Amino acid sequence: MHLLASLLCLLGLPFLSLAQGTRPDLLEVKAWRGTITATGKLVDDKVSVGATPVELSYSGSFSAEVLLDQFENEPAVWSGRVLTSNLGVSSTMKATSPHSKVETSYATSGPVDAQDGSVEAKLEFHGEQGWSLYILRNSRRTEETTVTTVDGKDYPARQGKTVHVLKNIQNFPYPDKGFDLEGTAELTASDSAGDFPVIWQYTVHLFPVDRQVLALEIEDSSAYQNWRPSATREGGAGAPLELKATVVGSDGKIPNTRVKGFVWELEKTSREPGVTMNYPLNAKDNRLDMELTTQGGMFVLSPDAQRVERAMSEGFSDTVSVVPFDWGGWADLKVTAIMEVGPPLVAKLKGASEEGLRLPKRAADSKIADVWKKQQAVPGPDDSDFDNIPAVPAHTGDGLTLYEEYRGFYAKGQHVEGDPMKKDLFVLDTTGIVDGGLKKFEKESKIIIHRLDQGEMDEQTHLINQNRTKGPHLVAQHGILIKFNNDTNNYMACDPQGAASPGSVKAILVPHAPVTGPAAPDGTPYADVSFAHELMHALGVRHHGDGDYDAYWKIEGNTVKEYRLEQDGSLSGRGVPIEILRENGDVATAAFIAHRQSMGGEAAQGQSQLVGVEQGESSGDDTCMMRYDRNSVHLKPGQPNARVSIQLGVNEEPVGYRICTSSKGTGINESKPGHPSRYGNAATGRGNCADKLKVSDL
Ligand SMILES: [Zn+2]
Ligand SMILES: [Zn+2]
Repeated sequence: MHLLASLLCLLGLPFLSLAQGTRPDLLEVKAWRGTITATGKLVDDKVSVGATPVELSYSGSFSAEVLLDQFENEPAVWSGRVLTSNLGVSSTMKATSPHSKVETSYATSGPVDAQDGSVEAKLEFHGEQGWSLYILRNSRRTEETTVTTVDGKDYPARQGKTVHVLKNIQNFPYPDKGFDLEGTAELTASDSAGDFPVIWQYTVHLFPVDRQVLALEIEDSSAYQNWRPSATREGGAGAPLELKATVVGSDGKIPNTRVKGFVWELEKTSREPGVTMNYPLNAKDNRLDMELTTQGGMFVLSPDAQRVERAMSEGFSDTVSVVPFDWGGWADLKVTAIMEVGPPLVAKLKGASEEGLRLPKRAADSKIADVWKKQQAVPGPDDSDFDNIPAVPAHTGDGLTLYEEYRGFYAKGQHVEGDPMKKDLFVLDTTGIVDGGLKKFEKESKIIIHRLDQGEMDEQTHLINQNRTKGPHLVAQHGILIKFNNDTNNYMACDPQGAASPGSVKAILVPHAPVTGPAAPDGTPYADVSFAHELMHALGVRHHGDGDYDAYWKIEGNTVKEYRLEQDGSLSGRGVPIEILRENGDVATAAFIAHRQSMGGEAAQGQSQLVGVEQGESSGDDTCMMRYDRNSVHLKPGQPNARVSIQLGVNEEPVGYRICTSSKGTGINESKPGHPSRYGNAATGRGNCADKLKVSDL
């Protein structure tokens, strides 16, 4: 009943080929190496055993690598070992009769079973009848399941089974020239003893062990090691990379067979839109970021320039150039040499074990050129964003991944890269009058500012890394738009309470008329520190506190009453009588009234004031650009109705010129014996402006 056991029995008389001339030189070969591969399939999946129809399914495969290094002459036989092998068979057989059903099945895959000590394979020369290869180690032990079903009830059984393949084979003729013993044959069911409908097809290739083995190599040139893709601003070709592939012999000698042709193929070529992250604006192209080109001789270039095919009449090497069209492009290159004798050779980088090579030269899990990572001395994955200069513990990074910093940007018409260690901030200044402020901020913050031209950042979206499809990415990162304020004449960031990050800033508005005020102690013009203040708002920094207010001091007889001055110019509150003091404590209320009345007209009615309060905008480190410095009066601790006037040359407030690193009051805000703090420390959670700068939109 074990039909399948027989199916595998491929025995038959050796096929006798036509007489061939013998080749005495083949007997000089000391040892042979080679492979045999075979597949078996059913001729017919329906057979009958007597009157019983049988359904079959079967697939078989076998491969082995052999080394035959024991020679005995007359007859000439080389015997040896099976080095590697795989035998895979899966089979089912279903026999159905009116009252019963028998289903037998097994499946196995793996190396052939070991066979201690004995000859595993041999090559035999049969005189003029040609040669044949015998695989004597050709079986694998497995288990077969038989399920017999009688009247709807299953009776399963399991038993051991040995699966054999290719017990017998054909003779093949000797080659006319060369030392490759090659043959392909088909063993049909009728070639074997039984009438089992399996066809085995097999191929043998043996060659002398000491024969020259060919390889196709691409030199790991310094050009390859140092190349990174580039492009022109207009999307034209960047600097090409020339690559040379050469067929080499394992023995260092000239290859013993001719190269018929080379095939160069770019695979998995990127199609990132635009040429950098920001340019051209909102690019939608999906053109291939690398192409092939070559010169001389006859070649065929595919329409998409991803494949070059060249027929060779002589020589063993070929040269092709890779042309980049994107600063961040990537692709894989495969090169194949078609040989006159033997299988095609697929190129490897010299010294590498994997086929093909990556463009640019890069790690398997990266799209960034190795050379750039080496120059920047940055490890880390392509999508990391670990910029930490300036170090802001709560806000690492600048929203640009390592890949995005590498691919780069166009700024003022030049290709620029991001700095993977330092935070990069992009600004589009349409006013042209705040460069001093940008420089001041750059100096104090250590953040790198990239100035863009119109056309390098979308004035609606403010995105600076929008050109992407597959490039490693973390967040839509924004630059900052700076434009003239046409409504009022004040500096104003989008949200003076501190934007979250650049992505939430609509624009920094700049007045047409320069902001005036005293220069900072380091000589920085007032307009520059004022602009830096606004830029800090755009990066999430709030004032040192809140609560400073506009007031109107109304003269009523010989008293002065303070009202709140609303933005529309109206007064509110009930009017609090106040006492005006000088810094030294002298009462100056009467002098104030007399002075105002001497001016006559509206001035004689009173005066508006800017009042600074404890822990308000003017508190904290008095060297910080974030601190307000324009109060005209300040409160006096412990005396709610006292107002101390701020006089030029007497007790004026310093202009900030740095970025503070603490919330502690310094200078006028420092509390010392005999010198009370004017506004105190920064409010809770405020101050320490350096630790609040947030460049990343993540
Ligand atoms: Zn402000
Ligand atoms: Zn500050």
